[in-house]
Amino acid sequence: MKTTILGYPRIGNKRELKKACEQYWSEKTDLESLQKTASEIKRKNWLQQQEIGIDLIPSNDFSFYDQVLDMCFSLGCIPERFKSIDQNDTSKLYLAMARGLQENGIDVTAMEMTKWFDTNYHYIVPEFEKNQSFSFFSRKVIDEYQEALNLGIKTKPVLIAPVTFLLLGKEKETGFNRMDLLKNLLPVYFEFIEELVQLGVEYIQFDEPCLALDLNDNERQAITSTYQQIAQKFPSLKIYLANYFDCYGENLETALNLPVDTLHLDLVRCSLQLDDILNSEHYNPKTKLALGIVDGRNIWKNDFEASLKTIVKASEKIPSENLWIAPSCSLLHVPYDLEHEQNIDPNIKQWLAFAKQKLEEVIALKNLASNENESFLYLFEENKLANINKQQSKLIHNEAAKNRILNLKASDSLRNSTFPERQQKQKQALNLPLYPTTTIGSFPQTKEVRSWRLKHKKGLLPTPDYDKLIANEIKASIRFQERIGLDVLVHGEFERNDMVEYFGENLNGFAFSDFGWVQSYGSRCVKPPILFGDVSRKNAITVKWSAYAQSLTNLPVKGMLTGPVTILQWSFVRNDQPRATTCNQIALAIRDEVADLEKNGLKIIQIDEPAIREGLPLKKSEWNKYLNWAVNAFKISASVAKDDTQIHTHMCYSEFNDIISSIADMDADVITIETSRSEMELLDAFVNFKYPNEIGPGVYDIHSPRVPSLEEIEHLIHKAKRVLPKEHIWVNPDCGLKTRDWPETKSALENLVSVAKKLRKEE
Ligand code: GLN
Ligand code: ZN
Repeated sequence: MKTTILGYPRIGNKRELKKACEQYWSEKTDLESLQKTASEIKRKNWLQQQEIGIDLIPSNDFSFYDQVLDMCFSLGCIPERFKSIDQNDTSKLYLAMARGLQENGIDVTAMEMTKWFDTNYHYIVPEFEKNQSFSFFSRKVIDEYQEALNLGIKTKPVLIAPVTFLLLGKEKETGFNRMDLLKNLLPVYFEFIEELVQLGVEYIQFDEPCLALDLNDNERQAITSTYQQIAQKFPSLKIYLANYFDCYGENLETALNLPVDTLHLDLVRCSLQLDDILNSEHYNPKTKLALGIVDGRNIWKNDFEASLKTIVKASEKIPSENLWIAPSCSLLHVPYDLEHEQNIDPNIKQWLAFAKQKLEEVIALKNLASNENESFLYLFEENKLANINKQQSKLIHNEAAKNRILNLKASDSLRNSTFPERQQKQKQALNLPLYPTTTIGSFPQTKEVRSWRLKHKKGLLPTPDYDKLIANEIKASIRFQERIGLDVLVHGEFERNDMVEYFGENLNGFAFSDFGWVQSYGSRCVKPPILFGDVSRKNAITVKWSAYAQSLTNLPVKGMLTGPVTILQWSFVRNDQPRATTCNQIALAIRDEVADLEKNGLKIIQIDEPAIREGLPLKKSEWNKYLNWAVNAFKISASVAKDDTQIHTHMCYSEFNDIISSIADMDADVITIETSRSEMELLDAFVNFKYPNEIGPGVYDIHSPRVPSLEEIEHLIHKAKRVLPKEHIWVNPDCGLKTRDWPETKSALENLVSVAKKLRKEE
């Protein structure tokens, strides 16, 4: 039995890469120093895996921004609009594709970004034209192999497989299907493989997670043909085929017939597929199986007893030299190392494993399964005790929270009146102009604001002083919003480190790490709370600052809450009860908060649900079940509001087409959505569905510092006006502004308001 992993976190143990990238982007350091940091991270990652004993270590799992962008870059899949940039200045070009560029007469928008399957990681969406050509543009995959080789480590380079690469992308013009591009694409892959093979590569890992999706025959055929061609051209190459996040499902037969050395199984998401494979007539016993049995998506300690049963079952049918032990997917989705954590309650800490501990689990499982090394037996006992302790812990189980769920009624998920009735009442209560302007919640989190929070947290800034600073910041933001003429104001979220963590800190059942960062996109990292137990509200969470903000102005201030599905989705969630149950517990806590905000004079309350779509199961047959409980959880939290309280929700980074009826079922009075990067294309779903409630399609991209022009904003609102009743249109940015700086925020919002005013006049 051998061990391997699919990928390792790359942001650096203490987020070194984030810091280095941001310094480089703001021209505080040069490329050389950024590259030095990157090499150091790669070196440490490789050596750590080697030291712990992983047999086959990946390379090319590192990225300066995103692995899909890297693939675009490697393959020369560079959209036309970036041709105005010097193609030899590769670091500028790469960055422009990721973040857009506005400089010396060049003005190009960034490429689109979307969720990586059902994770909270975002990738850059490849763009394809009808006659898209590809070329060997960047040597990254080869260089990284060489880099590891120089350390004496013969790695398994990771490539996003051709068909998955195509499926991840988007056609930018009509008249073709991106699968048609496979024939142009494959020759470039062959060039990569050729060079790698010449360098002595034995294994290449092809990431083919589209095998977890519903594929059509044509797509399946393309996969078969791809690997047949590779096998034919490179007979000695061993292909490690990595599918993860769900079963092979309907694609199993295709997968089993591929000429690959190893088939990787995500046994965490889909434990039953092992039996299916072992019993399948299509399974060729020469094909190795990689048992992805250590959860790469979550931070709970493995259950060795259960895992060993699975491994034993496999090894009864397959010679153990044909088995790999591995994590279920890349460890990109978990933090680096639990040992950095000094402040997690030791009772809870003993239930956890981060990336480094997962490497150790993989090694322990291999040794325990092969029974060769007695010294691992104590690890088995230790693991068993920790898991028993977790099942019985008083920290986890709270009767009152469990009972509230049991007593939920259908009417708890319904507003008092229908939307048209509520709309009337809200019109009277709020008296807003046509095309009301608003923002999505957060304002720039400057260095100072961050430093106050940090000092306060460390106990270096007493609460009264901290509160004064936050209050001043809120006051300044209210005055700013009044001055530039926004209609619905926000307090700015200066007190919040993160939209989920902030809530988790005020709820029972959550624990927090100090260094548990995972990459979200580019240099942006999130630190998901650890949702280990029954959830209930400790105290009112947002009332103080929202009510304060409202007290400063006669204009309506929007109370700002994170929705239950998003809190669930962006936390590391307990795996000992259904997610739906956990979600309802959170929903009830948010419901209490809505009631409290209303009582304290907030007439508008936004419940953000940006993560609703990413929770969708990968297989369509599972969608309804999920959407039913997710939508219901949102409604539990919102439905306590009176008719004349306006409930907003907000969603971003997603396609809406296929879930639009569920979005409508949520019955928020207003929804604001991200649409600008797609030129309002994402609005079509709402239009075609005749979405009945009010809607704010984002008019500018907040992921980039570029300031949208008046014309651009007007152009987008006109697009919306053509297809939506004008009384339903709100004007707002795509998302919150926390990652922006004030100067560009001011200019952008001034433009936004002045366009709304102009359009009002023209009515
Ligand atoms: N209210 C949040 C903010 O403005 C929403 C963030 C999000 O949608 N991701 O930051
Ligand atoms: Zn958003």
